Amino acid sequence: MINYTERLALLMHDIVGRTPGLSFIDLSEVLVFARFGRSEAEGAFATCHCLTLPESEPGYFFWRDRVTGELTRRSEWFVTKSPVVRLGETSVKYLISFVIPRFCDQTLERSRKAGLYPGAPGWMAKLDTVVHELYHIDPEESGIRRFVRADGTDSMRSHGPRFYEHVAEMVKSYLASKPDPSMYNFLEDDFAGLNARYGGVVSTTFRNFPSFPQRYMERLEMPPAEGGVRVEPLKPLTQPVLYTEDDLHIRQFTGSRTNRLRRKGQGRAA
Ligand SMILES: [Zn+2]
Repeated sequence: MINYTERLALLMHDIVGRTPGLSFIDLSEVLVFARFGRSEAEGAFATCHCLTLPESEPGYFFWRDRVTGELTRRSEWFVTKSPVVRLGETSVKYLISFVIPRFCDQTLERSRKAGLYPGAPGWMAKLDTVVHELYHIDPEESGIRRFVRADGTDSMRSHGPRFYEHVAEMVKSYLASKPDPSMYNFLEDDFAGLNARYGGVVSTTFRNFPSFPQRYMERLEMPPAEGGVRVEPLKPLTQPVLYTEDDLHIRQFTGSRTNRLRRKGQGRAA
C-alpha cells in the first residue's frame, strides 16, 4: 500500500529544497496528515492549519432579550487557544491536511487553476495544491502569511491578489529544476489508480479521527459581572489539548470510509 501522507511529506522536502521562496520553511515543524472527504462533495482539497496563533483576548458569548435588548444570560469567560502538538522534542508549528480521496481525484479540468497551466496534465492541480499550502506558511512566523495590498497596507485575506500566480510560478520553477520524477509521479494516479497500482492508500491521522488538533476554548476564572444575568457553563473539553506521536494513527482510506491499521503486537486501542 502507498503511504500517501509520507509521500506528500517527502515531496514537500524536495520542493522546499529547490524553491528559494519556500526555503525558510523548517519541515521538522510541519506535520502532514489526512482527513476524509468524498470526491463528489464540495470542500477543500487541503488546508494549512497554524498552531502558533496567540491566545485570544478573554471573552464570553451573550444573549440579549429580543425586545428590550437587555443582556439576559452569558457564558463563562474563556480564552481561545491552539492545542500543542509535540513530536519528540519538536513543537509542531503547522499542520497541513489533505482530504482523501478528494485530493487524489483533483484535476485541472473545469478548475480555475486551468488557465495558469495551459496544456498541462490534470494532476498538475495536485502539485499546485501542495505548493499552495506550503505558501501559506508565514516567513515572519506570525501565523498564516499576510498579504500586502497594492497600496502597501496589510491585507489579512490569506489569498492576496497574486497568490495563485505566485504558486504557479513556483510549481513551474520546481519542475524546471529537474527533480527526480519519483518524487512527484504518485500524483499522476487518481484514487482508483492508486488502489489499483499499490493495493491500498494509507495515511497519517490523529487518534481522535475524524477530529484533529483544533483551537479550543479554555474557561477563565473571572469575578461575576452584571447582577441578575445567568451564567451558562461552557461545554467541557472533549478534545486533547496536547498531542504527541502516540496520537498519530495510520489509517487506510477507502472511497467511502477509513480503517485503522494495527501493527503486529499492538494491543487494543487505548
Ligand atoms: Zn489557500
